Amino acid sequence: AKNHGRNQFHFYEQEMTAYAFERLELESAVRKALANEEFFLCYQPLIDLGTRRMSGAEVLVRWNHPEQGVLPPARFISLAEDSGLIVPLGEWVLRTACRQLRAWRDDGFDVPRVAVNISVRQLERKGFAALVAAILDECGLPASSLELELTESVLMETEEAFEVLEELDALGVRLSVDDFGTGYSSLSYLKRLPVHTLKIDRSFIMDVAEHGNNQAIVRAMIAMAKTLGLEAVAEGVESAGQAEFLTGEGCDQAQGYLFGKPVPSDAFRLAWAAAEV
Ligand code: C2E
Ligand code: CA
Ligand code: CA
Ligand code: CA
Repeated sequence: AKNHGRNQFHFYEQEMTAYAFERLELESAVRKALANEEFFLCYQPLIDLGTRRMSGAEVLVRWNHPEQGVLPPARFISLAEDSGLIVPLGEWVLRTACRQLRAWRDDGFDVPRVAVNISVRQLERKGFAALVAAILDECGLPASSLELELTESVLMETEEAFEVLEELDALGVRLSVDDFGTGYSSLSYLKRLPVHTLKIDRSFIMDVAEHGNNQAIVRAMIAMAKTLGLEAVAEGVESAGQAEFLTGEGCDQAQGYLFGKPVPSDAFRLAWAAAEV
């Protein structure tokens, strides 16, 4: 048994070395990809459930890898976070999304806002709110055109993070709690935060059309948002049944394959420039 254990350990060690090596390689690849402009953005519609109109677009980054093709964020975001490369990557995403919104509006395509995902590593950088203000200014956009999506874990982090949120709120940027329900935020904690929106995680929405269990949870989450004076957004809506349930419960907005998958800017414009759901 001892021998077996040692072999297993050895195997594990080798795996770890290969893994570490792969990460190191990936890290330098991400660095190069930023310089070579291999990243691009996709846009997914947010739908106002009351009017059934497009109320904004969530911005989701992709990597057009020269050998491996298009890679989803799951393949590189956590690595970019660990290495700190998320800071320049995140800034590129923010600036590119704001420039896109500017270009759309100049072209007569009136997208109400873009929602950009932000990592804790970006938030804890000194001057993050000033950077956001500078980008908005550069693009001639009012702060209300921008929403920043932050996960619960980010929000729970530190007093410093809280101060940055207050600065962003003072700017007039909208803040939303992403993947709501998967973290640990309490009612009293949420009440203290200057956030505007709760995005209910897809895992709760998934079977909401069929199962009583999740229906009760989602109902409670929407009620909680209302109690706190926040907007409720449902993620990952794939069926008309789900949308119907959510509309009936007074959920404000929804996002998901039912309304549209994330697509590059040209396709987004083509699909939504003159559309109603
Ligand atoms: P997220 O913020 O929760 O984004 C929603 C994810 O769910 C996206 O995956 C989207 O494509 C997917 N999705 C949307 N509607 C549906 C649906 O109806 N069904 C299903 N099955 N999935 C749906 P994606 O694009 O792969 O992004 C994954 C995660 O990567 C995001 O989760 C976000 O946490 C992170 N991410 C993406 N872009 C950025 C970025 O620019 N910066 C940072 N820091 N993170 C990002
Ligand atoms: Ca998000
Ligand atoms: Ca989310
Ligand atoms: Ca999610």
